[in-house]
Amino acid sequence: ATALDLDAVRADFPILGEHVNGQRLVYLDSGATSQKPQAVIDAEVAFLTRANSAVHRGAHTLAAEATELFEDARTTVAGFVGAPPEQLVWTSGATAGLNLAAYAIGNASVGRGAPESARFALRPGDEIVVTEIEHHANLIPWQELATRTGAVLRHIPVHDDGTLDLDAAAGIIGERTRVVAFTHVSNVLGIVNPVTELVALAQSVGAVTVLDACQSAPHLPLDLPALGVDLAVFSGHKMLGPYGVGGLYGRADVLEALPPFLTGGSMITTVTLDEAEYLPPPQRFEAGTQPVSQAIALAAAVRYLDRLGMPAVHAHEKALEARMGEGLRALPGIRLLGDAPDAERVGLWAFDVDGVHAHDVGQFLDARGVAVRVGHHCAQPLHRRFGLTATVRASTSVYNTADDVDVFLDALSGVRSFFGVSA
Ligand code: PMP
Repeated sequence: ATALDLDAVRADFPILGEHVNGQRLVYLDSGATSQKPQAVIDAEVAFLTRANSAVHRGAHTLAAEATELFEDARTTVAGFVGAPPEQLVWTSGATAGLNLAAYAIGNASVGRGAPESARFALRPGDEIVVTEIEHHANLIPWQELATRTGAVLRHIPVHDDGTLDLDAAAGIIGERTRVVAFTHVSNVLGIVNPVTELVALAQSVGAVTVLDACQSAPHLPLDLPALGVDLAVFSGHKMLGPYGVGGLYGRADVLEALPPFLTGGSMITTVTLDEAEYLPPPQRFEAGTQPVSQAIALAAAVRYLDRLGMPAVHAHEKALEARMGEGLRALPGIRLLGDAPDAERVGLWAFDVDGVHAHDVGQFLDARGVAVRVGHHCAQPLHRRFGLTATVRASTSVYNTADDVDVFLDALSGVRSFFGVSA
């Protein structure tokens, strides 16, 4: 992979010129939300300025133009994850995508909306399998689905080193398993999970797989059809795109057979006062007005990433991750989460500082211009598993430099003495 021209990349992100508390901004919170290049900001503004109109409706020129831009965006964003456009459903984000998946599967149990949906139906005693490391967005919708259907929720445990216990997974995924939902990359551990192995286990028992690709899509080349998952979600605002847009990818036969979640305008063929017939995917899952300007801006974001080249992005962030990991291991009183030797990772480390609360660490770093995330990162069960309530998380994106990592490490090296904790 060709190396990134970091000066040029950084110049594309206007916010990186900002100062925080009188210091150069060192933004290490891209795991929460990424910054946006000018091309993305411009794409949304250009659409709203020159082409804004309702899509899929109306016979006027602007409506046709807006529809074309919107559907081109679908093709671009679907292509970014290796899929044809009809296999990409727009959502408002990953949380919306995961709820869509869980509610659509739940509606299959009711038996309305799609002719082939019986294959997804959950009966009391059927099992939904998640992992111990999930973001709440890929946990609570499944808890709710289990409650509604009488299914049992089970989880694959995590080893002390942050890798999933695949031996346990082989015992947990069995005859009664109907759904296996798991994250590609944990937003706390940064480890790339073995998707192929988990998909193979799920497929061997005919279970539907649901992948949370939120923390992988921005950082590594992603080919969802090649991974073999049935459904997958990602989030625009974490991959240089705007808020309010995300994607749900589905295998063609799976989307075809799933009933809708939200119902209403734009997803129907004919409606009477008593009933309605639904459009095929992806429109079946896109009731109501869609995030049009955001989708168009997300297309600009993935074009930007494609221009850099995802292999180059991944290699760059791997180098930052290695530098950060090495520096963190060298500091006294730091406990890294998920420091598995040889694990494939993205540029993200969460850690505990002995004797200093994560929130104090966050404020201390902020005063030095360094933005990190503190708290449970919407993964309380994972923190509980490691005996913690909160951690500090530093996460990178395409625009971070080795100097960012060094400024962060240098600032962090002073935090324990500042709070009076002896080394
Ligand atoms: N899953 C993971 C792994 C995440 O990191 C996040 C965002 N913190 C989400 C789901 C939720 O994504 P969204 O903000 O798009 O709802």
